[in-house]
Amino acid sequence: MIELEKKPLIEFTAPVVEVREETPTTKTLVFDISGIDFDFYPGQYVMLQVPYPPTGEELRRAYSIASSPLQKDRLELTVKRKEGGKASVILTTQVREGDRFFIKGPYGKFFWTEGMSDRLVLIGAGSGVVPLMSILRYIRDKGLEKVKATLLVSYKSHEEIIYRKELEELSRLPNIKVRITLTREQPPEWKGLRGRIDREKILREVEDLNSSLYYLCGPPKFVDDMKGILLNLGVDRNQIKTERYD
Ligand SMILES: Cc1cc2nc3c(=O)[nH]c(=O)nc-3n(C[C@H](O)[C@H](O)[C@H](O)COP(=O)(O)OP(=O)(O)OC[C@H]3O[C@@H](n4cnc5c(N)ncnc54)[C@H](O)[C@@H]3O)c2cc1C
Repeated sequence: MIELEKKPLIEFTAPVVEVREETPTTKTLVFDISGIDFDFYPGQYVMLQVPYPPTGEELRRAYSIASSPLQKDRLELTVKRKEGGKASVILTTQVREGDRFFIKGPYGKFFWTEGMSDRLVLIGAGSGVVPLMSILRYIRDKGLEKVKATLLVSYKSHEEIIYRKELEELSRLPNIKVRITLTREQPPEWKGLRGRIDREKILREVEDLNSSLYYLCGPPKFVDDMKGILLNLGVDRNQIKTERYD
């Protein structure tokens, strides 16, 4: 295993310069970080401080970085609204361009960078796609053609597909394979996969089962189920990295 330098942990305030609607429940907040010396590995996360007007609290929540570290002046976070949640509701309904947020990071060991493995399998559910997208954007933007990545991601319905257009574009690259499965509702014309990610789908879609590095991200039960399947298929547990979102 190669020795990797740890990226410095820093804190800063940054303004939102764009709010992008990804799905009816998910928004990407784009922060201007030009002039801030912030670096991270694709897959890492930040802690965002979110003012919560109903109680005057300052909430602190973890959000994976969606953008690539090669994009130096913009930091992107993608937030999915959780019904009954505090921060995610504010972030997906109240935030406007110009709002400033306190951010601290980067954190986490769930990351990929060159030299770690040239065969990657990224498995996510819902907003679990976010750190996986940072990894794919990095591979694309750095032109790492020798790296082969397979993304297997599940969403509930077609309208809940986060990054749909960009995933389509990524799937046209020779070294990136994208497979989307819809678990609850599929439009009649849907040509992708149907139902949950299971052993059969993994066996069918993953080519280098035992020589890949795996990144699993999503709700705890999803991550545990995927890890169980992989271990059962004989994948070495040291080849599996996990990030659990509650
Ligand atoms: C490392 C890491 C990275 C993450 N990255 C992302 C990311 O990229 N994108 C993303 O969207 N999320 C991400 N998360 C999750 C994120 O940190 C928050 O947990 C999420 O946004 C929910 O926060 P919240 O304040 O809205 O919910 P909270 O207010 O903390 O509520 C948590 C849960 O409890 C339920 N709940 C709360 N109050 C009630 C109530 N009164 N009745 C019933 N249910 C209730 C809510 O429905 C919600 O499901 C990440 C988490 C981790 C640990």
